Amino acid sequence: MIARELFDAYSTALLTNDAMARKELLEFIGYVGFNDYPMLRDSLLDGCPALVAKYGDRAAQVAIEFYQEQRAASGVEEPYTPTLVAQPDAKVARADVRRSMGSLYGGAGHDAFMSTMAGYMTKRVMGQADEQLWDAMERDMVRGKACLVPHAGACGWCVLIASRGWDLDRRIESMRHDNCKCTLVVDWGDPALAGYDEMDYYRIYRDADSVENQRKWVSEWNAMSAEERQRYSPGTFTDRRKGETSTKSGWNNYRRNRVIQTMNENMGITSSSRIK
Ligand SMILES: [Zn+2]
Repeated sequence: MIARELFDAYSTALLTNDAMARKELLEFIGYVGFNDYPMLRDSLLDGCPALVAKYGDRAAQVAIEFYQEQRAASGVEEPYTPTLVAQPDAKVARADVRRSMGSLYGGAGHDAFMSTMAGYMTKRVMGQADEQLWDAMERDMVRGKACLVPHAGACGWCVLIASRGWDLDRRIESMRHDNCKCTLVVDWGDPALAGYDEMDYYRIYRDADSVENQRKWVSEWNAMSAEERQRYSPGTFTDRRKGETSTKSGWNNYRRNRVIQTMNENMGITSSSRIK
């Protein structure tokens, strides 16, 4: 059982660090200014990976402290000390910059540019805490269990992950979206967090994914043209042995999108969070 005090301290430390990262990024952009786009791009291509590394390392340090405290509190006796995970590849932060610059060249406003950049920063910095926890869990002889604790007003996507409770795997969790300030936690034994009930999130998911709604989505899907359906397809796959190329149906993606949209509507969340 994770004590509420420990969770609150961990969550606050991560959010404070994230706020500092965003502030420094926005000050940096403000300092360079928007008069010369190529200069802004080049400055950010250097500056952004450095900021992600600086604040990502701090997030990972905080995650190590949380991991060790909770491990000890759970009474795990076998010794284990997590090592700091590697910083994210600078290419990732540079790709964020290039994408955002692309929309700026495409006519996006300065405010939109800054909020997009800040959203990426949060995703990368908070993501380092996730990486650290997953890395420690995978190396630890005594394997813990992880769950995502949504922040107040979290979007349907995060609530959907939270509804899976303590059975997250890295593949699912790695889908942290831009701006996401939810907290990944780890516990051992019979995992729990004081004041947290995954059933609250499961109910929101179940209400959205009702039989009635599913029927509605099937008719929506059936009414779509092939081109419209194509937009939801996860991609084209080639069977090398047979030399055949086939396109997977996008139904599962469409349904997931509709589940999340409906959850957002039911929770009164209007701003559509980007879904990776
Ligand atoms: Zn979230």
